[in-house]
Amino acid sequence: MELFWHRRDLRVADNVGLAAATGAGAGTDDDTDRGPAAAVFVFDPDVLDHASDVRVRRLLDGLAALRDDYRERGSDLLVARGDPETVLPRLADVLDAEREAHHDAVLHDPDAIRTNAGDPYSVYSYYWKKWTDRAKDDPRPAPTAEGLVDADALAAAVGSEARADGGDPVDRVAVGDLPTPADLGFAEPDAAVGPAGTAAARERLDGFLDEAVFAYEAERDYPASESTSRLSAFLRYGEIGVREAYAATADAMSEAGSDARSDDAPEQVEEFQQQLAWREFYTQVLFHNPEVVTENYKAYEEGIEWRDDPEEIAAWKRGETGYPIVDAGMRQLREKAFMHNRVRMIVASFLTKDLLADWRHGYDHFREKLADHDTANDNGGWQWAASTGTDAQPYFRIFNPMTQGERYDPDAEYIKEHVPELRDLDPDLIHEWHELSPTQRANAAPDYPAPIVDHSERREAALAMYKRARGEDPEE
Ligand SMILES: Cc1cc2nc3c(=O)[nH]c(=O)nc-3n(C[C@H](O)[C@H](O)[C@H](O)COP(=O)(O)OP(=O)(O)OC[C@H]3O[C@@H](n4cnc5c(N)ncnc54)[C@H](O)[C@@H]3O)c2cc1C
Repeated sequence: MELFWHRRDLRVADNVGLAAATGAGAGTDDDTDRGPAAAVFVFDPDVLDHASDVRVRRLLDGLAALRDDYRERGSDLLVARGDPETVLPRLADVLDAEREAHHDAVLHDPDAIRTNAGDPYSVYSYYWKKWTDRAKDDPRPAPTAEGLVDADALAAAVGSEARADGGDPVDRVAVGDLPTPADLGFAEPDAAVGPAGTAAARERLDGFLDEAVFAYEAERDYPASESTSRLSAFLRYGEIGVREAYAATADAMSEAGSDARSDDAPEQVEEFQQQLAWREFYTQVLFHNPEVVTENYKAYEEGIEWRDDPEEIAAWKRGETGYPIVDAGMRQLREKAFMHNRVRMIVASFLTKDLLADWRHGYDHFREKLADHDTANDNGGWQWAASTGTDAQPYFRIFNPMTQGERYDPDAEYIKEHVPELRDLDPDLIHEWHELSPTQRANAAPDYPAPIVDHSERREAALAMYKRARGEDPEE
């Protein structure tokens, strides 16, 4: 018997380790006569220490969908609590099971793509060239019932031994019995975390590849158009395999080349593949530089003297900065546990370069609120915006939050969806909010705040802050 440990791969299909453990990899490198396998998920208190209400809810939803996928195959999911280093060997003993490790989360593991000099990449465009030229593995087949330990046998094995042999109750193993958030010390989140599981992920991917992907490059920056895949949480929890997702884009690309779609359809699909590659780029940045979770990737000579005003940071978190596109993004985050990519860039630039607040405040807030929070991508995004990352935004490129709003949400549709105080306003007034007089603001939208900072002043202050950090004279 094999024991398979699910971590960030809450799926049975296109799962490298599970295919190997169940003997489902017939015809591939994993072609073995192994199995049957029992699958386990372990609630690790050390990991839960860093979790949030949103992510615990999302995780439990993903686990419920995974458990159903096992039940459909006559098996079940073992659910354990405790330190995996204690729980897993004990469970492996009880089940008399084998253990081994596989790479699964990315198409190219973090050591696979290096510069010609053998170093990890720190510039995305060069990484992408190698990434896109490399052959990609095919999706792995899902196990059949024969490859899995059936539910009765699981219950008998863990029921009679692992469960009854006492010890610390957190080490206990249950068959298919998922805890509630409260059991784990968390509350139900206020935000809607969205659907979970492989079936929902596939539906989302298929819908996206049917239509939206062919206008992806043209539309992806417009938050109101909802033209991106919304796959991030599914990829984060591994509810869809990245080989499966990539193969589907490759099919879409060949279809695009062969029918009457617009001439640039392949480029549109490639732009989407580029985002999958960003995910792998940041994964390898984190793998080779684990200190970036708390430290700047790019060290400044003198250190950055962040202003870190607690009231300004709190207004940013509440979505009450008086900059409509920023507030819309922060409220989307609070209500939907998600934020559109362009708006993530805008709010991150606003926090670091208008409020002059350390990117770590923003990263911590995103980590708490985002359903798709992924250490590598979140950190990469924040360090990009703060000009401290790998191929970061240069420090002197400072987004103007008003012109960003006007360019990417011209009709203020996205803003109005998330900022009800501005719903009845003409878009032009919304985009001129910072220029209106107090009386004009009071007449137009009395409940919406005035800008908490002056963008032009703060832009100058940010340039001076970065110049000092670079050891340069801020007056020059
Ligand atoms: C400050 C900041 C924080 C971010 N935090 C996260 C995070 O915690 N988790 C996360 O998955 N993404 C994060 N991103 C990247 C990006 O915003 C989201 O992946 C994207 O908005 C998710 O929507 P989607 O699935 O519709 O994306 P699509 O545009 O459809 O992209 C497809 C997939 O590619 C990956 N991807 C897309 N853009 C990026 C990117 N810039 N970097 C890395 N991977 C990318 C994601 O897995 C995404 O699901 C962050 C970006 C910024 C600027």
